[in-house]
Amino acid sequence: MAGVVRNIQVKLNIPEEHHSDVDETFEEFRQASQHVADHGWSDDPDHLVKAKNKLHDATYTEVREATTLQSSLVQSARNLAATALGNCHDLLNNDKNTSKPEFRGSVVVYNGRTITYNDDHVTLATTGDRVTAEYVLPHDDEDTPFEEYWNDDEWEKREATLHKRDGEYYLHVAVEKDVEPVTDDSTENGVVLGVDLNVDGYVAVTSTGAFLGNADELNHKRDAYERRRGNLQQTGTRSAHITIQSIGDRFAEWSRHRLHAVSNGIIREAVENDCTHIAFERLKYIWTRISNASKFQQWAFREIQRQVEYKAEEHGIEVETVAPQYTSQRCSHGECGFTHEDNRDGDEFECLKCGKELHADYNAARNVAWRCVQNWLKSGSGRATSQLALKSGTVNANGDFNASAV
Ligand SMILES: [Zn+2]
Repeated sequence: MAGVVRNIQVKLNIPEEHHSDVDETFEEFRQASQHVADHGWSDDPDHLVKAKNKLHDATYTEVREATTLQSSLVQSARNLAATALGNCHDLLNNDKNTSKPEFRGSVVVYNGRTITYNDDHVTLATTGDRVTAEYVLPHDDEDTPFEEYWNDDEWEKREATLHKRDGEYYLHVAVEKDVEPVTDDSTENGVVLGVDLNVDGYVAVTSTGAFLGNADELNHKRDAYERRRGNLQQTGTRSAHITIQSIGDRFAEWSRHRLHAVSNGIIREAVENDCTHIAFERLKYIWTRISNASKFQQWAFREIQRQVEYKAEEHGIEVETVAPQYTSQRCSHGECGFTHEDNRDGDEFECLKCGKELHADYNAARNVAWRCVQNWLKSGSGRATSQLALKSGTVNANGDFNASAV
């Protein structure tokens, strides 16, 4: 079992009468961390102290006496300083410049003994009484981190840091989920979902035959946004400037939303087909193939791969990138493999040798998966029975078809 950790920010409603206790806790926590950092620091990495137990022995009693922090908060402050000193140690060891950690911000690190999570509120240890603070959650949590991680019991709330910004209190909560890896070193076979990304037509097509997202709609919206921004820029007024900002934010949110739908679709296909791996073409090679891709399209592809990597981790699925030769020209049907530039005509793929007709992007996605398996076999990674996930079944590296149970 491996744990996947996500961080969620939640705003807290701390009653006015408790602000002074919380603010005092920030200050004492800062002093405690600083005291430990002062003690451990040296610009000679051989003399810098970063070990928690050594820092504890040398500073604990002093910090307890100098502050009213409870023992667990003193330990959290020491751990924070130890981490900072550890970072300094690494830098000094690599002959990089660094200086003694200076703690200036409003931060308190909470752990299981100093924070308690309840359905609609949290309780926090402070220098005074324990403080109860309600969560300020969005009214509509659809497609937000709250829907995915906060209200889902599979994600356990762990450590948190409390921050203060512009007079408001925010809790950054680490949530963790145990993930059963789909494969480990003891299993030899892998099942690969191949993904083909495109700047027109469907954004993503998988080797299982899922056609996801509308690239033309994305491009069209982007053009409309650019035109409107251009017109507003010519106007040049202050209100035009504000409008540019707001339509820019709206467009960014809209497109990210669309790309999430695509990456969720890719993950769904991988999970439903028991895939251990998702394979993409390496972006560098996509840009060779699509030489006129816009900055926006390049961003969109990077964003999809980033989102998929992030979400795949939660399912124990690994993401690989491959440098496929001739993905669009090679026939992916059975053992054919015939490769010719005339096999493809726009969206249509028709093999000049075996006559198989396929959607061109679907054919390319199958080749991405195939290339991934070929790479494994060549590198002798032992996945002798590796398979490509294909529509209604899987095909192994030799082209033998296994009917799917689905
Ligand atoms: Zn063929």
